[in-house]
Amino acid sequence: MNKQLSLEEIQDFKGKYPKQLWYLFFSEMWERFAFYGMRGMLTIFMVEQLMLTERDANLKYGGIQAFIYTMTFIGGLFADKILGFRKSIFWGGILMIIGSFTLAFSPKELYFVGIAFTIVGTGFFKPNISTMVGSLYKDGDTRRDAGFGLFYSGINIGALLGGWLCIKTANNYSWNAAFSLAGIGMIIGLAIFLVTRTMIGPIGLSPLQGKMPESKIRMKDMMVYGGSLLVMPLIYLLVKNSEYTDYFMYTVGPLALLYIIFEMTKLGKVERDKLAAALVFIIFSVFFWAFFEQAGGSLSLFARYNLNDTILGMHIDPNEVNNSSNSLFVIIFSPLAGLLWLWLSKRKMEPNTIIKFGLAFLFVGVSFYLYYYTRFFADAQGKTSLELFTLAYLVSTLGELCLSPIGLSLMTTLAPRQLHGMMMGMWFLASAYGQYVAGLLGAEMSSDANATLTDKLMAYTNGYKDLAIYAVAAGVLLLVLTPVVRKLMHDVH
Ligand code: GLN
Repeated sequence: MNKQLSLEEIQDFKGKYPKQLWYLFFSEMWERFAFYGMRGMLTIFMVEQLMLTERDANLKYGGIQAFIYTMTFIGGLFADKILGFRKSIFWGGILMIIGSFTLAFSPKELYFVGIAFTIVGTGFFKPNISTMVGSLYKDGDTRRDAGFGLFYSGINIGALLGGWLCIKTANNYSWNAAFSLAGIGMIIGLAIFLVTRTMIGPIGLSPLQGKMPESKIRMKDMMVYGGSLLVMPLIYLLVKNSEYTDYFMYTVGPLALLYIIFEMTKLGKVERDKLAAALVFIIFSVFFWAFFEQAGGSLSLFARYNLNDTILGMHIDPNEVNNSSNSLFVIIFSPLAGLLWLWLSKRKMEPNTIIKFGLAFLFVGVSFYLYYYTRFFADAQGKTSLELFTLAYLVSTLGELCLSPIGLSLMTTLAPRQLHGMMMGMWFLASAYGQYVAGLLGAEMSSDANATLTDKLMAYTNGYKDLAIYAVAAGVLLLVLTPVVRKLMHDVH
């Protein structure tokens, strides 16, 4: 039997990464396998099996994504207040497994039931495992960003494998088998978490532990579990009817903001300033994801209709490139970015977080300019260069690496410990809005059914040029705001 490690023993690790990071890495890798496996199947399943129009399927897909990331706020909040991270992750994992196997059992009839379980389950799992990574580090430990970078590679290994294998299984065997595969991934992820959870010392225990009798804590836990089951029918209805998505999005974000402002009133000035800085990053990240998440929407249609299939003399389906190149580039470049930040920090040259965020927007701006520029390589049929498109993906991935893993890390440094889960949830809530806005922007750029391929090319690339300009403007604005945000961040860089 292992001796229970103390928090200090874990945080006083030698070398680049704490070994406990690997446990979280593999649990999250398998959770993302299940998540991206399912995500990659949703739209196609809705069009080919549920017989929805492409427009409806896109809207529903956007709604599902938005709901998933919205639930992370609730999942984070309950982890902070009642369950702690471990029980939240366990509960989320169980719900996700039920969701996947519901889909595996009867994908057509129980489609939205399975999705509702997955939405609530991801809400409890996803933000809290990320927050636990932050708990492995002491305040001020400069190795934290590199740790989140490694964790982010795990996310993308899972995403790449799940996205690829699940749709392959659906094509070659059956939808039932494909959804089962996602469920098996989730079982592996949860099993790894359960086996290793005693090796992470006191990290993730309930905040109520020791503060009230066990029986009372258990009762509160049961209420959270029961409550999350009770909201399931509501989520089911909301997802099934995409016209409710708008109302939902109009309400949840402002309510979440109000709640954070309420929490801020209970804090001292320094902690309040830091939360305000976190909110600035969160708000900017909404715009970032709105650009970036064109990937699942307009860029996948652009890839389907307007790209040739050649990269360096090899033939490859442009949609495969669209779906997997981002994860592949993250896996390749995330460790390198981690090493670069460490190398720069040893020389006291590491750019601060605001600059990194600003760079993220500039990279995305350049990548959208490259998407725009593909129009100059088009043939008479309106098909253009897959190579340039792939290069644009590489550049936008570099932007993602300057923002996404760093944002995760930042939430665990800027928020006081008792609000870590909620702020991590808020970070993902920004993704929900990003996804939502991405859908609206994508719809703006789309052409009607009788447009020629060249018309489509012109319409999309015009849109991409606009996005390039907006992204650069957002980056410059953030850089201009640097002195103000720096002040709010106090000792955090
Ligand atoms: N691709 C990352 C993940 O799945 C980031 C998602 C996001 O924040 N929108 O964790």
